Amino acid sequence: MATTTTKEKINAYEAALHNFDAAADALELKSDTREMIKYPERVLMVSVPVRMDDGRIRRFEGYRVQHSSVRGPAKGGIRYHPNVTLDEVKALATWMTWKCAVVNIPFGGAKGGITCDPKHMSEGELERMTRRYTSAILPLIGPEQDIPAPDVYTNAQTMAWIMDTYSMTKGYPIPGVVTGKPVCLGGSLGRNEATGRGVFYTIQSACEHLHMALRGATVAVQGFGNAGSIAAQLLHEAGAKVIAVSDSTGCVYNEHGLDIPNLMHMKALTGHVEGFPEAEKISPAELLAMQCYVLIPAALESAIDGENATAVRARIVAEAANGPVTPDGDRILEAKGVFLIPDILCNAGGVTVSYFEWVQDEQHLFWEAQDVYNRLERVMRAAFRDVLKIHEESAAPMRIAANMLGIGRVAEAVQIRGIYP
Ligand code: GLU
Repeated sequence: MATTTTKEKINAYEAALHNFDAAADALELKSDTREMIKYPERVLMVSVPVRMDDGRIRRFEGYRVQHSSVRGPAKGGIRYHPNVTLDEVKALATWMTWKCAVVNIPFGGAKGGITCDPKHMSEGELERMTRRYTSAILPLIGPEQDIPAPDVYTNAQTMAWIMDTYSMTKGYPIPGVVTGKPVCLGGSLGRNEATGRGVFYTIQSACEHLHMALRGATVAVQGFGNAGSIAAQLLHEAGAKVIAVSDSTGCVYNEHGLDIPNLMHMKALTGHVEGFPEAEKISPAELLAMQCYVLIPAALESAIDGENATAVRARIVAEAANGPVTPDGDRILEAKGVFLIPDILCNAGGVTVSYFEWVQDEQHLFWEAQDVYNRLERVMRAAFRDVLKIHEESAAPMRIAANMLGIGRVAEAVQIRGIYP
């Protein structure tokens, strides 16, 4: 990919393809295999008309992309955000394929999204939009085909509406069509906090690898949604000092460490972190440039790019978000000696517990929370070890090493399956 110098030129899908090529080159993958696994298998674009609260009809654009079903049913979340585009959904679906393979769960990759502004929609409008979207993508989804889950600005309630719409159409309850559901509908204990918990386990592993104590380590978190807030909470409980946190409305800083449980409480009540007592207000640029041990980008794609990566002063960058560092950003962080925990490893805890949820739904037998945590920890630690081994043996950067692991597993599966017809 050409060197990008401005934010406008950065496209997440191009970044995904760029990293695919780098990993495929390092694996010396044959061109036939590349042709078969690089691009999405299926792309669906749908119109979603919704009766708004004012009585008028508004049309939203929705997508579902199935990137791969080579290793199992396609799997991935659904995002509601004003910036959703087909290319973004294709990138996110591609990353899901490699992510599921990195943690070695029997799923392919998918992603969905609706271009909308959920912060300015009522609960009723969101429900009607979700149900109509579900009906539009219904031929593609199902427990054996493609299993949606929460992503940015969707949650357990969204999954309950999808499960209900799908089940009513089929005529009987089918909880396994989605994961990240409420526990009372066949959701898994531990799924809500799974992404943040997985991020925590990979940071723990990275600290062990770097011979650095987590207790007392300073942390900055960009994004205080499901992944960022839970990771911050677990790090805080483990004795790390979370000194800076941001969300889409503002950033707060306290050099002695923020009281994370209180900050989460305030965020739940007010919807933002700004105005938190005993904290200074800082700018988003200051947060990324914070002198800290661990920086956790937990918001959207391309947060760290060729322009601002030079300012990063963290020892570890742990990607709780999908695609938060662009290829130009990667080159700069790599040259600075930053230890990167790449997204498809770092945030794979969410889809790993989604897999546990799907298994429990299929078996109609549910596990205790501690059982979920123990299994998740084993999976995350094994994936970290596998990626680190490739990184050390091949001298590939951590991102490329993770892609080599994921892409290598998908390539092996497609070679054995062969081509149909
Ligand atoms: N949206 C999450 C991710 O990006 C979870 C996907 C899932 O559980 O299927 O990994």
